[in-house]
Amino acid sequence: MQKGKIGVSSDNLFPIIKKFLYSDHDIFLREIVSNAVDATQKLKTLAARGETSVSVENAAVRISLDEDKKTITVSDNGIGMTAEEVEKYINQIAFSGANEFLDKYKNDANAIIGHFGLGFYSSFMVSHKVEIISKSYKEGAQAIRWECDGSPEYILEDADRTEVGTDIIMYINEESEEFVNKARVSEILNKYCKFLPVPVVFGKKTTWKDGKEVDTEEDNQINDIAPAWTKKPVDLKDEDYASFYQQLYPYSEEPLFNIHLNVDYPFNLTGILYFPKLKNTIEVQKNKIQLYSNQVFVTDSVEGIVPEFLTLLHGVIDSPDIPLNVSRSYLQSDSNVKKISTHITKKVADRLSQLFKDNREEFEKKWDDLKIFIEYGMLTDEKFAEKAMSFFLFKNTDGKYFTFEEYEKLIKDSQTDKDNNLIYLYTSHLEDQYSFIQDAKNKGYDVLVMDDVLSTHLINQFEQKHTDKRFVRIDSDVVDHLIRKEDPADHLSFEERQELSPVFQSVCPETNGVNYVIDFKNMGEQAQPMVITRNEFMRRMKDMSKLQGNG
Ligand code: ADP
Ligand code: MG
Repeated sequence: MQKGKIGVSSDNLFPIIKKFLYSDHDIFLREIVSNAVDATQKLKTLAARGETSVSVENAAVRISLDEDKKTITVSDNGIGMTAEEVEKYINQIAFSGANEFLDKYKNDANAIIGHFGLGFYSSFMVSHKVEIISKSYKEGAQAIRWECDGSPEYILEDADRTEVGTDIIMYINEESEEFVNKARVSEILNKYCKFLPVPVVFGKKTTWKDGKEVDTEEDNQINDIAPAWTKKPVDLKDEDYASFYQQLYPYSEEPLFNIHLNVDYPFNLTGILYFPKLKNTIEVQKNKIQLYSNQVFVTDSVEGIVPEFLTLLHGVIDSPDIPLNVSRSYLQSDSNVKKISTHITKKVADRLSQLFKDNREEFEKKWDDLKIFIEYGMLTDEKFAEKAMSFFLFKNTDGKYFTFEEYEKLIKDSQTDKDNNLIYLYTSHLEDQYSFIQDAKNKGYDVLVMDDVLSTHLINQFEQKHTDKRFVRIDSDVVDHLIRKEDPADHLSFEERQELSPVFQSVCPETNGVNYVIDFKNMGEQAQPMVITRNEFMRRMKDMSKLQGNG
């Protein structure tokens, strides 16, 4: 047996650990389990390379509770540790790590509370004693037992474990007794370990028998080792994305669509983001994105880590470049995290633009649900706003949708003031302003619907960027002063117009036929004349005769 003293200035680790890791004590389990997963993955790698003959087939990480002894044990079939390795990885490095940590953060305790895992030593947050029993995969390795009560004194001796792997036995202290509880452990595992890449087993599955809950033979595996985001997009169907969403947020309303992130250069990033159906109360829907590092849960509070408007998205982001054991303020300033955030913004904009191009009809159908998100993004993120100009849609009082460019074309001859500024008429309340809307339409004006909370802000932004455009909210005074523009279609009879309509629609597919030419078929004799400009009308007539001539 060997006794030693770990080189650390402080006489006892407890005060350090307790002081700095005051909240989120549950992190200890994540750290110990992820070490066990690491050890298993390492052995698997060696086995795959033929460097060991130790079987890795049924490798799993097992967590068990002993309520009498008040212990939590985490066992793995990983590479294990020799005495020398314990000296090196547990005694020296971790303790020096603790020192470094203290030096770095002694003036910044608040910022790190709750988000600093200290790896293996975080077990001392909840334990008065920790024991390691380990046997290395190396030929002829002697099993060892290490024990430490959190003071710099430790014991290292031979043990008689026969199987390769490691047990970490935590003797839970009095203040932390809440953790010696099946439900509590389940809850923590579910939070941090749900998607770890090695089976994590917590006891047996249970069943009800004679009114009592009893164990079955089957292992209670708590994780999915291959969650959807780790797979290739080509291998996933719509149902897979939908069911993964339910896995993340059980019983939630179906999302609008998803974005599968899959980057390996210049940084590594995978993930699936979902556009939820947003309600008007966006505040309560924020912060649903879960951040992972190599399938280990880091945080679900991404505020300050991704741009504000992206916090409205749901889903998972996983990057080994997201540091696991760091404070929140560190995460926010980390350059990798910043790059990731910029990349995601770009991806989101690209995806929206692609959806718009590929299937405009679908996009329009979803627009009312998407709108808040996009408006929010445009208001808070310059780069996103630039990109969004190509797919941001105006909706008019007839329920038709136009891009910024399309709308400008529509109104450029008919809705200008005396200084030739474009006038965008809008209503903030369809019902209340119904009669004004009708009056404006009778004068040949189109009216937009801009009735949500962000619209006014967005209008300000538009007007600042485009000084030749004015947004005017409709009211009686405004309507009175609208000039009735000459209606170029007046000279056509109803029959003539009716006859021309289908032709327009086939001649001008780029406008979907509907943007300019009102659907005649649904217009009675009493209907208002259609609103297109003379120039526009002439152009179409020309196009039409050209087409007919060629055809
Ligand atoms: P980190 O995981 O960031 O390296 P930790 O403090 O969590 O830091 O662990 C320190 C080291 O102890 C690990 O790098 C590993 O070498 C060793 N270790 C911890 N747990 C195990 C385990 N279950 N099996 C094998 N080695 C382990
Ligand atoms: Mg670790």
